Amino acid sequence: MSVESISAAIRDVVDFPKKGIIFKDITPVLKSEKLFREVVDIIAKRYEKRKPDYFVAIESRGFLFGSALAYKLGCGLVPVRKKGKLPYKTIEESYALEYGTATIEVHADALGKGDNVIIIDDLLATGGTAAATAKLVERLGGKVVGFEFVIELAFLSGRKTLSKYDVNSIIVVN
Ligand code: AMP
Repeated sequence: MSVESISAAIRDVVDFPKKGIIFKDITPVLKSEKLFREVVDIIAKRYEKRKPDYFVAIESRGFLFGSALAYKLGCGLVPVRKKGKLPYKTIEESYALEYGTATIEVHADALGKGDNVIIIDDLLATGGTAAATAKLVERLGGKVVGFEFVIELAFLSGRKTLSKYDVNSIIVVN
């Protein structure tokens, strides 16, 4: 098993969810017990010796990888969700999309001062969602130790948006 096998399993779905988008479908990776484990193990290895307090996982595919990592490393999991989904008191951040804006939320008591967190999602595109997540973490007093993505669409320059942070991705699409 290797990064090439993970890359080969990711399926391009053209014009989903709208025309002009090539959607990177990670469900074949999840379906393969070997590849799913490989992805989780590659990321986990980076933090074995400097375990974060929490994985902050971005809705919705970030939850899949974040929960496996939290279990494997023995950390907590904090979900960041689209506005209106979290039941308790929240704080929110809005960010620009190609058309309009999006708002994400986290529970107001989800993190405390000095908590070390890794933010995780399946894919880094423009970095807007990830940067807004970092703002939420920092507003609660948490420290963003790094970002983890399975896939990075390098041509959308998300890494530039996150330039003050440590950013890792397993598969880079140029
Ligand atoms: P961005 O904020 O532009 O970095 O977009 C990242 C978010 O949108 C992540 O939660 C991704 O899951 C999702 N996303 C953006 N582009 C794609 C794509 N081509 N394929 C799959 N997911 C995508």
